[in-house]
Amino acid sequence: MRTPDIVPHTEAHPLVDGEVRLLGAARQVTGAMTRVEMGKRRVLVDCGVAQGREKMEFPDAARDVDALVLTHGHLDHIGNVPTLVERGFDKPIFATRATLAIAKISLEDSLGMQGASDRDAARFIARFDALARPLPYGRTADAAGLSLTFHEAGHILGSASAELQSSESRVIVSGDLGRKDSPILRDANTEWAADKPVDVVVMETTYGGRDHAHTHDDIERDLEAILRDAISRKAKVLIPSFAIGRTQTLLYFLNTLVESGRIPEIPVAIDTPMGLAITETYKRFQPIFDKEALDKIADGDDPLDFENLFKVERGKDSARLRDVEGPMIIIAGSGMCTGGRIIGHLQDGLPSERTTVLFVGYQAEGTPGRRIQQAAERGGKVRLKGGEEVLVRAKIARLKGLSAHADRGELLDWLRAIPDARRVALHHGDVEAQDAFAAWAPEQLRASASGRPS
Ligand SMILES: [Zn+2]
Repeated sequence: MRTPDIVPHTEAHPLVDGEVRLLGAARQVTGAMTRVEMGKRRVLVDCGVAQGREKMEFPDAARDVDALVLTHGHLDHIGNVPTLVERGFDKPIFATRATLAIAKISLEDSLGMQGASDRDAARFIARFDALARPLPYGRTADAAGLSLTFHEAGHILGSASAELQSSESRVIVSGDLGRKDSPILRDANTEWAADKPVDVVVMETTYGGRDHAHTHDDIERDLEAILRDAISRKAKVLIPSFAIGRTQTLLYFLNTLVESGRIPEIPVAIDTPMGLAITETYKRFQPIFDKEALDKIADGDDPLDFENLFKVERGKDSARLRDVEGPMIIIAGSGMCTGGRIIGHLQDGLPSERTTVLFVGYQAEGTPGRRIQQAAERGGKVRLKGGEEVLVRAKIARLKGLSAHADRGELLDWLRAIPDARRVALHHGDVEAQDAFAAWAPEQLRASASGRPS
């Protein structure tokens, strides 16, 4: 079998009866938005916003589609849905039921952050509900005249790759792909129908140039060591965490350490309303958990709950946590310390040696999270949103390996499982990551096709 053409950072990819066009994330990580036109039928896959320092204009070509397909509920894939609807889009929105549930929580939160009134946010959610068409994994539906099937992507709850077919063409959009053996989630699909070639595969490349070195065991061991150290210092452990995915993965690892007695039971506060809402959503969709998580549940152990786990709903209860002595763990948003309840805890805890700030995700350049790390290295001060400058005397720790994205080897394995892919359009990665994957992958694919070990 021939190996596919791997094409980095290119907007347009031809089909015999149409075209795949990357309207966003062609040369960057965020803002995923892909227009698929086949036989005069047009579908938009994802409608994301650019985040951090990345930028994008809302593209006109997104508006004249006959359906919207959402791969998962992260804002860089759905954040522009309100703009699309505002500009007159009133066609069906297809997604898995879990993605629709997460999308509603996350879009309502994001509209609030942008200053929309509760009434306007509620009006949008009602509109979204009216357009929503839930579609389970593995079932094929008619989406504006094209056949649409979702396949597990293993990235966050409900995440899917979207397969679209006309009578003449077949396209697969990966969505974000998760790591193998991620807690809670089933692995990305590797079983595809082999009856037709796949003309274009649109594939994410967040880590197209990297291998993740950390295994589950490494993560558990590192987390145990960080927490044991904090407990011995009677420290408060402040964990800035993203509400969707990261918070639940973290709870899973904490549950494992607590239930197996590897760390003593200390209070753990989930101090993020959105994190709580998403965690409840995860629990509602237990049937799509992976086998390991289902085995725990069958065994009587809720993998997202344990003794001494507290939910902090109200803002005033969040403030009260500051008067509680350590050791304790506080998980709060936002993940890069740009806002949310973590700010108050950091303001209070950063000047104290009896604080550990545990970063569980990448801190982009220029974010408050990164500035805290830099201030800690030189023993300096930092100013957070709306607060006084504070000296950083807290211990700073980092937990590596919690990424929700496949590394290059996992991306390659996913791609290799697709029979007879003709062209692979890379997106959702910076230019270096896309170039690195485009340079590395073909030789690996040729080696495996000829039976040589890669
Ligand atoms: Zn994502």
